[in-house]
Amino acid sequence: MTGLITHAIERRKSVAVKVGDVTVGGDAPIVVQSMTNTDTADADATAQQIEDLHRAGSEIVRITVDREEAAKAVPHIKEKLLARGVDVPVVGDFHYIGHKLLADHPACAEALDKYRINPGNVGFRERRGTQFSSMIEAAIEFDKPVRIGVNWGSLDQELLAHLMDENGKLDAPKPASDVMHEALVVSAIENAKRAEELGLGRDKIILSCKVSEVQSLITVYDEMAKRGDYALHLGLTEAGMGSKGIVASTAALSVLLQQGIGDTIRISLTPEPGGDRTEEVVVAQQILQTMGFRAFMPLVTSCPGCGRTTSTVFQELAGKIQGYVRERMPEWRMDYVGVEEMQLAVMGCIVNGPGESKHADIGISLPGTGESPAAPVFIDGEKRMTLRGEGIAEQFQKIVEDYVSDKYERRD
Ligand code: SF4
Repeated sequence: MTGLITHAIERRKSVAVKVGDVTVGGDAPIVVQSMTNTDTADADATAQQIEDLHRAGSEIVRITVDREEAAKAVPHIKEKLLARGVDVPVVGDFHYIGHKLLADHPACAEALDKYRINPGNVGFRERRGTQFSSMIEAAIEFDKPVRIGVNWGSLDQELLAHLMDENGKLDAPKPASDVMHEALVVSAIENAKRAEELGLGRDKIILSCKVSEVQSLITVYDEMAKRGDYALHLGLTEAGMGSKGIVASTAALSVLLQQGIGDTIRISLTPEPGGDRTEEVVVAQQILQTMGFRAFMPLVTSCPGCGRTTSTVFQELAGKIQGYVRERMPEWRMDYVGVEEMQLAVMGCIVNGPGESKHADIGISLPGTGESPAAPVFIDGEKRMTLRGEGIAEQFQKIVEDYVSDKYERRD
Protein backbone atom coordinates (compact mmCIF):
# COMPACT_ATOMS: atom_id res chain seq x y z
CA MET A 1 0.00 0.00 0.00
CA THR A 2 1.40 3.35 -1.01
CA GLY A 3 -0.56 5.51 1.45
CA LEU A 4 -1.35 9.14 0.78
CA ILE A 5 0.86 10.48 -1.94
CA THR A 6 3.04 13.21 -0.50
CA HIS A 7 4.83 15.03 -3.28
CA ALA A 8 7.31 17.53 -1.98
CA ILE A 9 5.80 20.57 -3.64
CA GLU A 10 6.74 23.78 -1.94
CA ARG A 11 3.68 25.99 -1.67
CA ARG A 12 4.12 29.67 -2.36
CA LYS A 13 4.09 31.55 0.94
CA SER A 14 0.92 33.55 1.29
CA VAL A 15 -0.69 35.45 4.13
CA ALA A 16 -3.33 33.34 5.90
CA VAL A 17 -6.89 34.69 5.79
CA LYS A 18 -9.68 33.44 8.06
CA VAL A 19 -13.04 33.03 6.31
CA GLY A 20 -15.40 32.10 9.12
CA ASP A 21 -13.62 29.16 10.74
CA VAL A 22 -11.80 28.18 7.54
CA THR A 23 -8.24 29.32 6.86
CA VAL A 24 -7.23 30.17 3.30
CA GLY A 25 -3.52 30.56 2.60
CA GLY A 26 -0.53 30.36 4.91
CA ASP A 27 0.15 26.73 5.79
CA ALA A 28 -3.51 25.69 5.50
CA PRO A 29 -4.52 22.94 3.06
CA ILE A 30 -5.88 24.16 -0.28
CA VAL A 31 -9.56 24.90 0.32
CA VAL A 32 -12.40 23.69 -1.93
CA GLN A 33 -15.16 26.17 -2.59
CA SER A 34 -18.23 26.44 -4.79
CA MET A 35 -21.06 28.76 -5.73
CA THR A 36 -24.83 28.33 -5.71
CA ASN A 37 -27.03 28.92 -8.76
CA THR A 38 -30.29 29.44 -6.92
CA ASP A 39 -32.02 32.82 -6.62
CA THR A 40 -30.61 34.05 -3.32
CA ALA A 41 -33.92 35.76 -2.56
CA ASP A 42 -35.34 32.23 -2.29
CA ALA A 43 -33.89 31.51 1.13
CA ASP A 44 -35.16 27.92 1.32
CA ALA A 45 -33.76 26.86 -2.05
CA THR A 46 -30.46 28.64 -1.43
CA ALA A 47 -30.02 27.17 2.06
CA GLN A 48 -30.75 23.72 0.64
CA GLN A 49 -28.18 24.08 -2.13
CA ILE A 50 -25.56 25.45 0.26
CA GLU A 51 -26.19 22.41 2.46
CA ASP A 52 -25.89 20.06 -0.54
CA LEU A 53 -22.63 21.69 -1.64
CA HIS A 54 -21.23 21.60 1.89
CA ARG A 55 -22.19 17.95 2.38
CA ALA A 56 -20.49 17.16 -0.92
CA GLY A 57 -17.31 18.70 0.53
CA SER A 58 -17.40 22.41 -0.25
CA GLU A 59 -15.61 24.19 2.58
CA ILE A 60 -16.78 27.68 1.59
CA VAL A 61 -19.91 28.49 -0.44
CA ARG A 62 -20.53 31.71 -2.35
CA ILE A 63 -23.94 33.15 -3.14
CA THR A 64 -24.82 36.07 -5.36
CA VAL A 65 -26.20 39.13 -3.56
CA ASP A 66 -27.56 41.01 -6.50
CA ARG A 67 -30.50 43.04 -5.16
CA GLU A 68 -32.45 44.13 -2.10
CA GLU A 69 -34.45 40.91 -1.84
CA ALA A 70 -31.29 38.84 -1.93
CA ALA A 71 -29.60 40.98 0.74
CA LYS A 72 -32.68 40.64 2.95
CA ALA A 73 -32.65 36.85 2.53
CA VAL A 74 -29.00 36.41 3.56
CA PRO A 75 -29.51 36.45 7.38
CA HIS A 76 -32.42 34.00 7.02
CA ILE A 77 -30.27 31.68 4.90
CA LYS A 78 -27.63 31.70 7.62
CA GLU A 79 -30.22 31.01 10.32
CA LYS A 80 -31.64 28.08 8.35
CA LEU A 81 -28.19 26.61 7.86
CA LEU A 82 -27.23 26.91 11.51
CA ALA A 83 -30.58 25.40 12.56
CA ARG A 84 -29.67 22.34 10.45
CA GLY A 85 -26.16 22.17 11.86
CA VAL A 86 -24.55 23.37 8.62
CA ASP A 87 -21.73 25.64 9.70
CA VAL A 88 -20.07 26.60 6.42
CA PRO A 89 -18.71 30.07 5.62
CA VAL A 90 -21.00 31.89 3.20
CA VAL A 91 -19.54 34.50 0.86
CA GLY A 92 -21.56 37.29 -0.75
CA ASP A 93 -20.81 37.99 -4.41
CA PHE A 94 -21.43 41.69 -5.10
CA HIS A 95 -21.55 43.56 -8.39
CA TYR A 96 -22.57 47.13 -9.28
CA ILE A 97 -24.52 47.98 -6.08
CA GLY A 98 -22.59 46.07 -3.43
CA HIS A 99 -21.70 49.29 -1.61
CA LYS A 100 -25.40 50.16 -1.30
CA LEU A 101 -26.55 46.67 -0.31
CA LEU A 102 -23.92 46.40 2.41
CA ALA A 103 -24.75 49.88 3.74
CA ASP A 104 -28.53 49.39 3.65
CA HIS A 105 -28.55 45.83 5.03
CA PRO A 106 -26.26 45.55 8.03
CA ALA A 107 -27.77 42.17 8.95
CA CYS A 108 -26.61 40.87 5.56
CA ALA A 109 -23.16 42.42 6.04
CA GLU A 110 -22.94 40.77 9.45
CA ALA A 111 -24.24 37.36 8.38
CA LEU A 112 -21.80 36.93 5.48
CA ASP A 113 -18.33 35.54 6.15
CA LYS A 114 -16.61 37.29 3.25
CA TYR A 115 -17.44 39.82 0.55
CA ARG A 116 -16.41 39.33 -3.05
CA ILE A 117 -15.73 42.64 -4.75
CA ASN A 118 -15.25 42.87 -8.52
CA PRO A 119 -13.14 45.99 -9.20
CA GLY A 120 -14.31 45.99 -12.82
CA ASN A 121 -17.88 46.87 -11.96
CA VAL A 122 -17.75 48.60 -8.62
CA GLY A 123 -18.54 51.93 -10.25
CA PHE A 124 -17.30 54.25 -12.97
CA ARG A 125 -14.95 57.26 -12.90
CA GLU A 126 -15.20 59.32 -9.73
CA ARG A 127 -17.73 56.90 -8.20
CA ARG A 128 -15.34 53.98 -8.47
CA GLY A 129 -13.16 55.20 -5.60
CA THR A 130 -15.97 56.01 -3.19
CA GLN A 131 -17.98 52.85 -3.88
CA PHE A 132 -14.92 50.62 -3.57
CA SER A 133 -13.97 52.44 -0.35
CA SER A 134 -17.41 52.02 1.15
CA MET A 135 -17.28 48.24 0.57
CA ILE A 136 -13.86 48.05 2.18
CA GLU A 137 -15.09 50.18 5.08
CA ALA A 138 -18.00 47.74 5.55
CA ALA A 139 -15.47 44.87 5.64
CA ILE A 140 -13.49 46.73 8.32
CA GLU A 141 -16.61 47.61 10.31
CA PHE A 142 -17.95 44.05 10.30
CA ASP A 143 -14.49 42.50 10.57
CA LYS A 144 -14.84 40.45 7.38
CA PRO A 145 -12.31 39.44 4.76
CA VAL A 146 -12.81 40.29 1.10
CA ARG A 147 -11.90 38.70 -2.20
CA ILE A 148 -10.88 41.23 -4.77
CA GLY A 149 -11.94 39.19 -7.75
CA VAL A 150 -10.98 40.44 -11.19
CA ASN A 151 -12.57 38.76 -14.19
CA TRP A 152 -11.65 39.43 -17.79
CA GLY A 153 -15.32 39.50 -18.75
CA SER A 154 -15.72 42.58 -16.57
CA LEU A 155 -12.21 44.03 -16.59
CA ASP A 156 -11.84 47.69 -15.63
CA GLN A 157 -12.04 49.23 -19.11
CA GLU A 158 -10.52 52.57 -18.06
CA LEU A 159 -7.44 50.80 -16.72
CA LEU A 160 -7.18 48.67 -19.86
CA ALA A 161 -7.50 51.73 -22.12
CA HIS A 162 -4.82 53.54 -20.10
CA LEU A 163 -2.39 50.60 -20.35
CA MET A 164 -3.12 50.22 -24.07
CA ASP A 165 -2.31 53.92 -24.57
CA GLU A 166 0.95 53.59 -22.65
CA ASN A 167 1.84 50.48 -24.61
CA GLY A 168 1.17 52.31 -27.89
CA LYS A 169 3.80 54.88 -26.99
CA LEU A 170 6.54 52.27 -26.62
CA ASP A 171 9.14 51.86 -29.38
CA ALA A 172 8.23 48.17 -29.50
CA PRO A 173 4.66 47.78 -28.24
CA LYS A 174 3.72 44.48 -26.66
CA PRO A 175 0.96 42.28 -28.10
CA ALA A 176 -2.55 43.28 -26.98
CA SER A 177 -2.91 39.98 -25.08
CA ASP A 178 0.12 40.88 -22.92
CA VAL A 179 -1.43 44.23 -22.11
CA MET A 180 -4.71 42.52 -21.20
CA HIS A 181 -2.87 40.16 -18.84
CA GLU A 182 -1.06 43.10 -17.28
CA ALA A 183 -4.35 44.97 -16.82
CA LEU A 184 -5.85 42.00 -14.98
CA VAL A 185 -2.90 41.71 -12.62
CA VAL A 186 -2.62 45.47 -12.04
CA SER A 187 -6.35 45.71 -11.33
CA ALA A 188 -6.13 43.03 -8.63
CA ILE A 189 -2.89 44.22 -7.01
CA GLU A 190 -3.65 47.96 -7.11
CA ASN A 191 -7.09 47.45 -5.60
CA ALA A 192 -5.62 45.25 -2.89
CA LYS A 193 -3.10 47.98 -2.07
CA ARG A 194 -5.90 50.52 -1.99
CA ALA A 195 -7.84 48.33 0.45
CA GLU A 196 -4.76 48.14 2.67
CA GLU A 197 -4.39 51.94 2.56
CA LEU A 198 -7.98 52.17 3.74
CA GLY A 199 -7.08 50.06 6.76
CA LEU A 200 -7.99 46.50 5.76
CA GLY A 201 -5.26 44.09 6.83
CA ARG A 202 -3.47 41.92 4.30
CA ASP A 203 -4.77 39.00 6.37
CA LYS A 204 -8.25 40.02 5.23
CA ILE A 205 -7.58 40.06 1.49
CA ILE A 206 -7.74 37.23 -1.04
CA LEU A 207 -7.10 37.90 -4.72
CA SER A 208 -8.31 36.25 -7.89
CA CYS A 209 -7.86 37.04 -11.57
CA LYS A 210 -10.05 34.74 -13.58
CA VAL A 211 -9.96 34.20 -17.31
CA SER A 212 -11.44 31.44 -19.45
CA GLU A 213 -8.34 30.45 -21.46
CA VAL A 214 -5.95 27.99 -19.92
CA GLN A 215 -2.67 29.60 -21.04
CA SER A 216 -3.85 33.08 -20.07
CA LEU A 217 -4.82 31.89 -16.62
CA ILE A 218 -1.40 30.34 -16.06
CA THR A 219 0.35 33.51 -17.26
CA VAL A 220 -1.76 35.79 -15.08
CA TYR A 221 -1.43 33.74 -11.89
CA ASP A 222 2.32 33.25 -12.40
CA GLU A 223 2.57 37.02 -12.42
CA MET A 224 0.23 37.55 -9.47
CA ALA A 225 2.26 35.10 -7.42
CA LYS A 226 5.42 37.12 -8.11
CA ARG A 227 3.91 40.46 -7.15
CA GLY A 228 2.81 39.86 -3.60
CA ASP A 229 2.01 37.40 -0.86
CA TYR A 230 -1.77 37.80 -0.95
CA ALA A 231 -3.70 34.54 -0.61
CA LEU A 232 -4.87 33.45 -4.07
CA HIS A 233 -8.22 32.05 -5.13
CA LEU A 234 -7.74 29.96 -8.24
CA GLY A 235 -10.25 29.12 -10.91
CA LEU A 236 -10.76 29.05 -14.64
CA THR A 237 -13.87 31.15 -15.21
CA GLU A 238 -16.63 30.00 -17.55
CA ALA A 239 -14.86 26.66 -17.91
CA GLY A 240 -17.78 25.15 -19.82
CA MET A 241 -19.87 22.01 -19.73
CA GLY A 242 -19.03 18.39 -19.12
CA SER A 243 -15.66 17.00 -20.08
CA LYS A 244 -14.55 20.28 -21.71
CA GLY A 245 -15.01 22.21 -18.48
CA ILE A 246 -13.41 19.51 -16.37
CA VAL A 247 -10.41 19.06 -18.67
CA ALA A 248 -9.79 22.80 -19.12
CA SER A 249 -10.03 23.45 -15.37
CA THR A 250 -7.80 20.52 -14.54
CA ALA A 251 -5.20 21.49 -17.15
CA ALA A 252 -4.98 25.07 -15.90
CA LEU A 253 -5.14 24.43 -12.20
CA SER A 254 -2.78 21.49 -12.16
CA VAL A 255 0.01 23.51 -13.78
CA LEU A 256 -0.39 26.28 -11.18
CA LEU A 257 -0.88 23.99 -8.19
CA GLN A 258 2.24 22.07 -9.21
CA GLN A 259 4.15 25.35 -8.92
CA GLY A 260 2.75 25.85 -5.42
CA ILE A 261 0.36 28.60 -6.58
CA GLY A 262 -3.21 28.65 -5.25
CA ASP A 263 -4.72 28.63 -1.75
CA THR A 264 -8.34 27.90 -2.59
CA ILE A 265 -9.97 26.59 -5.77
CA ARG A 266 -13.35 26.73 -7.42
CA ILE A 267 -14.33 24.83 -10.57
CA SER A 268 -16.75 26.88 -12.68
CA LEU A 269 -18.62 24.13 -14.53
CA THR A 270 -21.79 24.82 -16.44
CA PRO A 271 -24.23 22.19 -15.14
CA GLU A 272 -26.38 20.16 -17.52
CA PRO A 273 -30.02 21.31 -17.38
CA GLY A 274 -31.33 19.84 -14.14
CA GLY A 275 -27.81 18.60 -13.40
CA ASP A 276 -26.21 18.28 -10.01
CA ARG A 277 -24.46 21.43 -8.83
CA THR A 278 -22.26 19.41 -6.51
CA GLU A 279 -20.31 18.08 -9.51
CA GLU A 280 -18.04 21.12 -9.29
CA VAL A 281 -17.15 20.16 -5.73
CA VAL A 282 -16.35 16.57 -6.69
CA VAL A 283 -14.12 17.75 -9.55
CA ALA A 284 -12.26 20.19 -7.26
CA GLN A 285 -11.67 17.43 -4.73
CA GLN A 286 -10.53 15.01 -7.40
CA ILE A 287 -8.02 17.50 -8.79
CA LEU A 288 -6.51 18.02 -5.34
CA GLN A 289 -6.58 14.33 -4.46
CA THR A 290 -5.23 12.92 -7.71
CA MET A 291 -2.39 15.45 -7.49
CA GLY A 292 -1.66 14.29 -3.96
CA PHE A 293 -2.42 17.54 -2.13
CA ARG A 294 -5.35 16.35 -0.06
CA ALA A 295 -7.40 13.20 0.49
CA PHE A 296 -11.18 13.43 0.53
CA MET A 297 -12.44 10.03 -0.49
CA PRO A 298 -11.03 6.56 -1.20
CA LEU A 299 -9.86 6.41 -4.80
CA VAL A 300 -10.97 3.53 -6.99
CA THR A 301 -8.44 2.67 -9.68
CA SER A 302 -9.95 0.78 -12.58
CA CYS A 303 -8.58 -0.12 -15.97
CA PRO A 304 -10.35 1.09 -19.13
CA GLY A 305 -11.16 -2.46 -20.22
CA CYS A 306 -10.36 -3.74 -23.70
CA GLY A 307 -10.99 -6.69 -25.96
CA ARG A 308 -10.10 -8.97 -23.07
CA THR A 309 -13.26 -7.88 -21.19
CA THR A 310 -16.13 -8.75 -23.46
CA SER A 311 -18.76 -8.89 -20.71
CA THR A 312 -20.07 -5.91 -18.75
CA VAL A 313 -19.35 -7.53 -15.37
CA PHE A 314 -16.16 -5.54 -14.98
CA GLN A 315 -17.74 -2.13 -15.72
CA GLU A 316 -20.68 -2.93 -13.46
CA LEU A 317 -18.40 -3.88 -10.57
CA ALA A 318 -16.24 -0.78 -10.98
CA GLY A 319 -19.39 1.38 -11.00
CA LYS A 320 -20.91 -0.39 -7.99
CA ILE A 321 -17.76 -0.07 -5.92
CA GLN A 322 -17.37 3.61 -6.79
CA GLY A 323 -21.01 4.21 -5.84
CA TYR A 324 -20.67 2.19 -2.64
CA VAL A 325 -17.63 4.15 -1.49
CA ARG A 326 -19.35 7.46 -2.21
CA GLU A 327 -22.47 6.37 -0.33
CA ARG A 328 -20.59 5.05 2.69
CA MET A 329 -18.04 7.83 2.94
CA PRO A 330 -20.08 10.35 5.00
CA GLU A 331 -20.47 7.74 7.76
CA TRP A 332 -16.94 6.35 7.44
CA ARG A 333 -15.53 9.86 7.65
CA MET A 334 -17.32 10.45 10.94
CA ASP A 335 -16.32 7.06 12.40
CA TYR A 336 -12.79 6.36 11.20
CA VAL A 337 -9.54 8.32 11.08
CA GLY A 338 -7.77 8.36 7.70
CA VAL A 339 -10.28 6.27 5.74
CA GLU A 340 -10.26 8.85 2.93
CA GLU A 341 -6.73 7.67 2.08
CA MET A 342 -7.82 4.13 1.27
CA GLN A 343 -7.09 3.01 -2.29
CA LEU A 344 -9.09 0.39 -4.16
CA ALA A 345 -8.51 -1.28 -7.52
CA VAL A 346 -11.01 -2.99 -9.80
CA MET A 347 -9.25 -4.54 -12.78
CA GLY A 348 -10.53 -6.31 -15.86
CA CYS A 349 -8.12 -9.20 -16.42
CA ILE A 350 -4.93 -10.96 -15.46
CA VAL A 351 -2.65 -8.73 -17.60
CA ASN A 352 -2.46 -5.79 -15.17
CA GLY A 353 -5.06 -6.92 -12.63
CA PRO A 354 -2.91 -8.65 -9.98
CA GLY A 355 -0.10 -6.07 -10.27
CA GLU A 356 -2.37 -3.05 -9.91
CA SER A 357 -4.38 -4.77 -7.17
CA LYS A 358 -1.23 -5.33 -5.13
CA HIS A 359 -0.50 -1.59 -5.20
CA ALA A 360 -3.91 -0.82 -3.69
CA ASP A 361 -5.14 -1.47 -0.16
CA ILE A 362 -7.75 -3.79 -1.62
CA GLY A 363 -7.82 -4.88 -5.23
CA ILE A 364 -9.81 -7.33 -7.27
CA SER A 365 -8.79 -8.77 -10.62
CA LEU A 366 -11.78 -10.01 -12.58
CA PRO A 367 -11.50 -12.80 -15.11
CA GLY A 368 -11.03 -11.63 -18.68
CA THR A 369 -12.26 -13.54 -21.72
CA GLY A 370 -10.95 -17.11 -21.67
CA GLU A 371 -9.71 -16.94 -18.08
CA SER A 372 -11.11 -19.25 -15.44
CA PRO A 373 -14.15 -17.62 -13.77
CA ALA A 374 -12.41 -16.59 -10.56
CA ALA A 375 -11.55 -13.14 -9.15
CA PRO A 376 -8.54 -13.04 -6.82
CA VAL A 377 -8.69 -10.37 -4.11
CA PHE A 378 -5.52 -8.73 -2.83
CA ILE A 379 -5.38 -7.04 0.56
CA ASP A 380 -2.36 -4.99 1.57
CA GLY A 381 -0.42 -6.47 -1.34
CA GLU A 382 -1.18 -10.15 -0.56
CA LYS A 383 -3.60 -12.45 -2.32
CA ARG A 384 -6.11 -13.32 0.41
CA MET A 385 -9.05 -14.99 -1.29
CA THR A 386 -10.77 -15.71 -4.58
CA LEU A 387 -14.35 -14.75 -5.33
CA ARG A 388 -16.54 -16.78 -7.67
CA GLY A 389 -20.07 -16.98 -8.96
CA GLU A 390 -22.95 -14.57 -8.44
CA GLY A 391 -22.79 -11.64 -6.05
CA ILE A 392 -19.09 -10.77 -6.45
CA ALA A 393 -19.89 -7.07 -6.00
CA GLU A 394 -21.68 -7.69 -2.68
CA GLN A 395 -18.89 -9.97 -1.47
CA PHE A 396 -16.28 -7.38 -2.42
CA GLN A 397 -18.22 -4.63 -0.64
CA LYS A 398 -18.27 -6.74 2.53
CA ILE A 399 -14.49 -7.17 2.26
CA VAL A 400 -14.09 -3.40 1.92
CA GLU A 401 -16.39 -2.77 4.89
CA ASP A 402 -14.47 -5.24 7.08
CA TYR A 403 -11.17 -3.72 5.99
CA VAL A 404 -12.33 -0.24 7.00
CA SER A 405 -13.44 -1.35 10.46
CA ASP A 406 -10.25 -3.41 11.05
CA LYS A 407 -7.69 -1.07 9.62
CA TYR A 408 -8.75 2.48 10.58
CA GLU A 409 -8.81 3.80 14.10
CA ARG A 410 -12.27 4.61 15.42
CA ARG A 411 -12.93 8.19 16.39
CA ASP A 412 -13.89 8.72 20.03
S1 SF4 B 1 -6.11 -4.99 -17.23
FE1 SF4 B 1 -6.77 -6.42 -18.81
S2 SF4 B 1 -8.86 -5.81 -19.29
FE2 SF4 B 1 -7.93 -4.08 -18.23
S3 SF4 B 1 -7.18 -2.82 -19.92
FE3 SF4 B 1 -5.46 -4.11 -19.22
S4 SF4 B 1 -5.51 -5.88 -20.59
FE4 SF4 B 1 -7.50 -4.85 -20.80
